[in-house]
Amino acid sequence: MTRHDPVEALASLRHEFGEHGGVNMSIEASSTFTVVDPATMPDIFAGRKSPESGGCYLYGRHFNPTVYHLGRQLAALEGTEAAYCSASGMGAISAVIFALCNAGDHVVASHTIYGGTWALLNDFMPAKTGVRTSFVDTTNLAAVKNAITDRTRLLYVESMSNPTLRVADIPALAAIAHEAGIPLVVDNTFSPLVLSPARLGADIVVHSLTKFIGGASDLIGGAVCASGEFIGSLMDLHTGPLMILGPTLDPSVAASVALRLPHLALRMAAHGERALALAERTEILGVTVAYPGLPGHPDRALLERLRHPDFGYGGLLTIDAGTEQKAMALMNTLQNDHQFGYVAVSLGYFDTLMSCSASSTSSEMPEEALLNAEISPGLVRMAIGYSGSLEQRWVQLETALRATGLAPMR
Ligand SMILES: *Cc1c(COP(=O)(O)O)cnc(C)c1O
Repeated sequence: MTRHDPVEALASLRHEFGEHGGVNMSIEASSTFTVVDPATMPDIFAGRKSPESGGCYLYGRHFNPTVYHLGRQLAALEGTEAAYCSASGMGAISAVIFALCNAGDHVVASHTIYGGTWALLNDFMPAKTGVRTSFVDTTNLAAVKNAITDRTRLLYVESMSNPTLRVADIPALAAIAHEAGIPLVVDNTFSPLVLSPARLGADIVVHSLTKFIGGASDLIGGAVCASGEFIGSLMDLHTGPLMILGPTLDPSVAASVALRLPHLALRMAAHGERALALAERTEILGVTVAYPGLPGHPDRALLERLRHPDFGYGGLLTIDAGTEQKAMALMNTLQNDHQFGYVAVSLGYFDTLMSCSASSTSSEMPEEALLNAEISPGLVRMAIGYSGSLEQRWVQLETALRATGLAPMR
């Protein structure tokens, strides 16, 4: 396996200047494009002529140059041949599932995934398409193997699971998928740069750009990174889910995201450094904290083997407050008495965002599924921001942990 350096790959990309030589690319604000030679129109429609091969752009839902360029940046970041963007992470994920499955097919997915993805696979797909999913503990490789049938069309995991922060053994899962002749799809939303799933064996990488990549909780977007052939299939005029279902990313949003990729590395390192320090200090107080960078985390050794060394262990940690009531009390005092962060779903923001997973981002899952996934009712997910100083944030967190009885009073 050649070592992939996402930061170097991004910086090596041909620079996209603005139309008038601007250092930043132009926002292509057209939904339709002039075909200078009308005789080429049939070839362009048939996909025989692309903008690179004597054709031109056609229509904004198909390809937009600004969105296309962001796709090239994300492909460089993930080390895939191609990528394209969508209006949301769910738009990207559902496009991939629709592209790979026909009516009656089967999916094997991790039992700890984002609530929206869980609902897509558990509720939406069976009802609308007859595509069924077996949810398994993907840290149990034998269980994954056993769940694959001759109708299985893909294996789906999150690089770091939401909210339990278990790390997927991507090389081992890829081997199982490839032995069965199916692609491994990895949602890398929680760990851009930290993990490069495609370089570890994954075939398709999906992202919610809304989170770390966006970095300011001001936009919604998604991306699919994969082979040129697969990305092309998403745009097929007859069966391409991005083309037909139309979750098109707005070019002005794409341009905005493109301006944040150059400092993603700085931000991921800052999130990781702060999260590790807070996790270590919280653990010393005797509080139940999970963070993949802590020596006691079940996947610490695996992550150490798979991760890029420069970006830490990710920006998320969880604190188990025991009960939902205690979780609410902790979040309440952290937000309203100490300004430690905000009670809000999502992640990747510069300030800390906190939510109680079982009753928010994983609330799509019934009690039994929550139990299987080990999402306890008092689990507080913290997406650690890098604003303020470590000492300032630690005083806020420590005081709140003691005040709510999660740590002993001094
Ligand atoms: C937020 C999220 C999604 C969905 O992304 P949207 O941009 O909100 O559609 C998918 N997967 C994970 C892991 C997420 O955190």
